[in-house]
Amino acid sequence: MRNIGFIGCGNMGGAILNGILKAGLLAPEHIFIHTATPAKREELAAKLHVCAVNSNREVVENADLIILAVKPYLFDEVFAQIKEVLSEDKVLISVAAGQSLANMEKLSSAETKIIRTMPNTPASVGEGMSAVTPNKNCTQKDIEETMAIFTSFGKAEIIPEHLMDAVPAVSGSSPAYIFMLINALCDGAVRDGMSRSMALTFAAQAVLGSAKMVLESGIHPEQLKDMVCSPGGTTIEAVAKLEEKGFRDAVLAGMKACTDRLKEMN
Ligand code: NAD
Repeated sequence: MRNIGFIGCGNMGGAILNGILKAGLLAPEHIFIHTATPAKREELAAKLHVCAVNSNREVVENADLIILAVKPYLFDEVFAQIKEVLSEDKVLISVAAGQSLANMEKLSSAETKIIRTMPNTPASVGEGMSAVTPNKNCTQKDIEETMAIFTSFGKAEIIPEHLMDAVPAVSGSSPAYIFMLINALCDGAVRDGMSRSMALTFAAQAVLGSAKMVLESGIHPEQLKDMVCSPGGTTIEAVAKLEEKGFRDAVLAGMKACTDRLKEMN
């Protein structure tokens, strides 16, 4: 694995960095980071033994695989800083929502190796879900190393770029709605007399176990739901009430709002 650099290391960059280190993919001294705040990057360097550098340009000079983890509105500024040192052997890996390969090629050059990705923050606990789209300049080795990074903290799939705009709503942003669901389950359990800390374990484990059943059994979620609903029982009452309250509609509407916002940002 070649040296890895981080331009930006906040929620998402930090989750990826933790994932890489936890998986032992690369020794920390081969990882270079630059963030907006000097104190923050020094703190990260002291805690994780990675190398903090003083500019985005230095990240590119020291690393071969550069993870671009700043907010999309900073792209023009950051590309202007690194363009000169972005030689043809460097691989730029963007995690930004809504930044197309064509736009990033325009900001750098048509020859730059660029990989557009969309991970999510469960990467920090080794359960990330990432979509990956390389541009035409990337070699097999570039793609394999990128997949090694993104599978070191979860699952990753190579997908065509036209599907990239579908990814934030389903996995990039969806941890936020799942956390809302877990918190709502906790509120219900607290109302029924359980302590919040106990409710948190029950709710989170139920979500984790349900997700595992979907992934490991290969059974359709609708069928898994039917298997929990005994005739005339308690679960079907809950399901009927959730349908009446627009549970499914609310999820679909939230996802559409996410995708619409992404299109506005493009
Ligand atoms: P964040 O605000 O938590 O982190 C941004 C990082 O960029 C910080 O470390 C900040 O110091 C740094 N930064 C700011 N200006 C900089 C500059 N000029 N040069 C170098 N570093 C600079 O944001 P985030 O949530 O981690 O989002 C970063 C990217 O990740 C975005 O493009 C977003 O679309 C993408 N993303 C985020 C999530 C998520 O769940 N948060 C999921 C998928 C993709």
